[in-house]
Amino acid sequence: MTTLFISDLHLDAERPAVTELFGAFMQREAVAADALYILGDLFEAWVGDDDPSETGAYVETRIREVADAGVPVFFIRGNRDFLLGNAFARRAGMRILPDPAVIMLYGKPAILMHGDLLCTGDTAYQAFRAQTRNPAWQAQFLSQPLAARLAFAAQARAASAAHQGGMKQSDKAQFEALTDVTPAAVDATLAQFGIDTLIHGHTHRPAIHELIVGERACRRVVLGDWYEQGSVLRVEPHGMTLERL
Ligand code: MN
Repeated sequence: MTTLFISDLHLDAERPAVTELFGAFMQREAVAADALYILGDLFEAWVGDDDPSETGAYVETRIREVADAGVPVFFIRGNRDFLLGNAFARRAGMRILPDPAVIMLYGKPAILMHGDLLCTGDTAYQAFRAQTRNPAWQAQFLSQPLAARLAFAAQARAASAAHQGGMKQSDKAQFEALTDVTPAAVDATLAQFGIDTLIHGHTHRPAIHELIVGERACRRVVLGDWYEQGSVLRVEPHGMTLERL
């Protein structure tokens, strides 16, 4: 009895070894799990479900195999693949959850998020997020030809790298703070839901944090990224482990 959580794989054609690691994880481990939750940034970039990328097709097939084996697969959109839509989800056999989402995990509730909503200190990013999550913006973007969308994504990645590079040079402490969660946002989320477990990714700082919110003992689990190796959270009825693959 194990439920698996992964995030921040950032799969793309430039890092085929990580895509293969994901494939092996799906075929060896996920296929035998109670459920699999993918908490965003499965892909490095996603410009629409009609993009016929090889990586997208490979991932779709691996997820479909797991779903066909009877394992429910759930997905929360990340800041890189927020345009992943119902067409891809249907093809892959997975269900898209809202962010945040509340699930029952062996009888206990847990809040799931990608994690970018908790990084409230980066106001420029939050403004970009609000704009790009607007249904009208998305409809306009998705109506453009694929080549134009791919060009936009490449440009956005370069701008993001420059933004982060500039921050790093001007103030490393500021960079570290802005790219991590805001503690007040974590407290507010745990208080708002009245649930003591929060699981998210995004920050690439894998850890299990114990904290007190109000008078409740809470726990914030941060999933790791797949840049250098894989990372998976395995939850069983009586405990959880956060491990590298
Ligand atoms: Mn992210």
